[in-house]
Amino acid sequence: MSIKENLHKIKNTFINPNCKLIAVSKTHPSESIQEAYDLGVRDFGENKVQELVEKAEKLPKDIRWHMIGHLQRNKVKYMAEFIYLVHGVDSLKLLKEINKQAAKVSRTINCLLQVHIAEEESKFGFDEKELLELLQGETIHELQNVKVIGLMGMATFTENEEQVEKEFEGLKNLKNKLQQMDLPENFDLQELSMGMTGDYLLAQKQDSTMVRIGTAIFGERDYN
Ligand SMILES: *Cc1c(COP(=O)(O)O)cnc(C)c1O
Repeated sequence: MSIKENLHKIKNTFINPNCKLIAVSKTHPSESIQEAYDLGVRDFGENKVQELVEKAEKLPKDIRWHMIGHLQRNKVKYMAEFIYLVHGVDSLKLLKEINKQAAKVSRTINCLLQVHIAEEESKFGFDEKELLELLQGETIHELQNVKVIGLMGMATFTENEEQVEKEFEGLKNLKNKLQQMDLPENFDLQELSMGMTGDYLLAQKQDSTMVRIGTAIFGERDYN
């Protein structure tokens, strides 16, 4: 199947047509991104800074680049000038570094806080208690060059759909709970980034506003 057919097929299954599709292009060549771009896609997700920067240099400037993976603090500076949204902010230290680099290039960078919703130990992210500490602390108010526009989560890698949906529901409920609170001025929780190739419909059932889909668009990844 072609990228065109894949995109059609995915869009036709969307429960919520307003949910934003982030085309996860990691490991795929710029030609594939250009092909999707020519079909109207403008949001692309990458998880390695170097790869992201190289692709951004040669591809159209109106692409909205999403950093979706675990981000090392020493790499933030390479993408501060152009990154559209950082999905996986998993520590206050990282948020501070993004703020610092954003200030240097006179930008405000949009971020999503990654919340640990999966059973697996290995997944990055805040738990609810850590998130509340961040919200109620002093430091967050100093970070005027970042804007937290939502939450991001990754469900457990399992066939058990009930469990996956429950994890997504938990993230939705957490967002709704936070929205009821008196949030710092650099918070505007609109987005819920959840759902990938294997679970994006379950995520949309739980009000995901952004799905990050790679394999179903571009095919299997070859990591060699
Ligand atoms: C690779 C990746 C995706 C896309 O995964 P697919 O299963 O190929 O759709 C989504 N989110 C993150 C954080 C990823 O690293």
